[in-house]
Amino acid sequence: MNVLVINCGSSSLKFQLIDSDSEQVLAKGLCERIGIDGSRIVYQPAGGEKITTESPMPTHKQAIQMVLDSLTDSKNGVIASLEEVGAVGHRVVHGGEKYASSVVLDDTVLEAIEECNDLAPLHNPANLIGIRACQELMPDTPMVGVFDTAFHQTMPEKAYIYGLPYRYYTDYKVRKYGFHGTSHSFVSKRTAEFLGKDINQMKIIVCHLGNGASISAVCNGKSIDTSMGLTPLEGLVMGTRSGDIDPSIMEFLAKKEGLDIEGVMNVLNKESGVYGISGLSSDFRDLEAGAKEGNKRAILARKVFNYRVAKYIGSYIAAMNGVDAIAFTAGLGENDSAVRADICSYFGYMGIALDEEANSCRGEDKVISTADSKVTVCVIPTNEELAIARETLALVSK
Ligand code: AMP
Repeated sequence: MNVLVINCGSSSLKFQLIDSDSEQVLAKGLCERIGIDGSRIVYQPAGGEKITTESPMPTHKQAIQMVLDSLTDSKNGVIASLEEVGAVGHRVVHGGEKYASSVVLDDTVLEAIEECNDLAPLHNPANLIGIRACQELMPDTPMVGVFDTAFHQTMPEKAYIYGLPYRYYTDYKVRKYGFHGTSHSFVSKRTAEFLGKDINQMKIIVCHLGNGASISAVCNGKSIDTSMGLTPLEGLVMGTRSGDIDPSIMEFLAKKEGLDIEGVMNVLNKESGVYGISGLSSDFRDLEAGAKEGNKRAILARKVFNYRVAKYIGSYIAAMNGVDAIAFTAGLGENDSAVRADICSYFGYMGIALDEEANSCRGEDKVISTADSKVTVCVIPTNEELAIARETLALVSK
């Protein structure tokens, strides 16, 4: 069966058509600037060149129509008709406490997702628009929602309750949810499989280090803690997000800089992280180039980032009372050997040692620790689209 995977943001939409038997990507692409002047679709059939088409896309429905037209195009399409799409898997950012796993989408589920809009005001409304547009254009095709938060619903209370008045949890569901769940689930499973071990008897720490970054502690296949919180702002220092800070800084900055709460949140989400520290870029490749030229703040930004990751790894070793494997994934985790080496250097006392040559790898499943390292460290590329396709197939074939 072919599964169309849709990841719909407020003004962009990423898609992949995956043959779920062979797990091959048949075509993929991106619609950009939806609802804005200059919208375009970038479409790439497997083995072919990227094709960019500028076309007005005032709404998500037009964008999805463009996706479907590209997939069925007589020249560059990969399927003859939409009947060859067996199901659609949608990435949904927030499922609140309601969804601990993926679910077939119907009106009741859509209402429940809508109820979570408060918890993810930037993401969930966009996800819903994408789902509804798809439903209109493909009314007979089953659709599945795969939630970023679902994998972390196994966290125990002691991990997800904040030190706040308890009624904020009961009244408003203020708690840690965690994100990147599809990636943490995929990578932890793949780590066990790659190492030839039973995930139900493993303690794994997954470091998803991309522009957005989070860590999870996966004990016997279940997430027991993760660094992101009620929103993706908590935890690691990220590309432009601050991660953990003293909450009093918000009041302090508001007074000093004359900012309202939106202004402060904008600074924490968009002007902070390694971008804020370096003043240079949120992209680690630029920081590396800056560091090579002796840019002190670029060097500092990388150090702060790595140190925070190391502290979280240390805390998750405590949370699980040990660790068998540490897996690095996402743009930075899969590609930046210097970041991996610096992070692991904090664990020399525990007998973690990296093999320098193995650690020079990029984007492939690989053990990067030495044979006598006390903990196996590996690079495991994430594949959220494939994970969504697998979940979708599993639900619609039931
Ligand atoms: P992601 O959000 O997973 O796409 O990751 C984006 C981050 O990964 C950016 O900071 C990039 O600089 C970093 N990244 C992506 N590719 C590479 C690479 N080949 N070498 C180093 N960093 C990379």
